[in-house]
Amino acid sequence: MKHRLVAVMLRKHRLLAAVTAALFVATAGAVPARLDVPGVKSFGAGLAARAATLKHDPKLILEAVARRMGVTLRPEIPLPAIRLESRTQLLRMQVAADQQWGFRPPVFLSIYAAASNEIYLIDEAALYEKYPRTLDDSFAHELVHYFQAKYRKDRSDSEWSEIEAMAIQTWFRNEFMAPGRVAPEARHAATQR
Ligand SMILES: [Zn+2]
Repeated sequence: MKHRLVAVMLRKHRLLAAVTAALFVATAGAVPARLDVPGVKSFGAGLAARAATLKHDPKLILEAVARRMGVTLRPEIPLPAIRLESRTQLLRMQVAADQQWGFRPPVFLSIYAAASNEIYLIDEAALYEKYPRTLDDSFAHELVHYFQAKYRKDRSDSEWSEIEAMAIQTWFRNEFMAPGRVAPEARHAATQR
């Protein structure tokens, strides 16, 4: 019973997250003083926007998440392709989401598409600045889903897959993204360059 309730709440949470993201972008798109600067990449809602960039090397993030999950990286398992919102057609993300979940989200979402082994990432800087989130920890979250699918062969609809991804995302943010804080792994990687 308890488990069932947790499952229902989680489904609700996931749906809410998607709806909130959709609403936010819809609101942002309705701002009257909309900028359409030629040559500047427009995001999904038609807003010209700056793209966020990763603070850390993607390899460092990949290795940190793997270690946290107790996964040993295997060269024979292909790495996921990264598709940033600023450089990716919305339709491409929608088709990938449709294949996986059976519906097309109205806006670009950060997802791991298992069939095509792609990580789609929202990289609109303004979105990350509004919340205590970063592109790096969003990437860490989707990497958890990559390891779940390609290394552990977890069922993708397991409630725990999202709990684990959120927990590791938070851990990554605290360890690697806190201002003035340098995680041991980051220090180690810096000395290796
Ligand atoms: Zn997730």
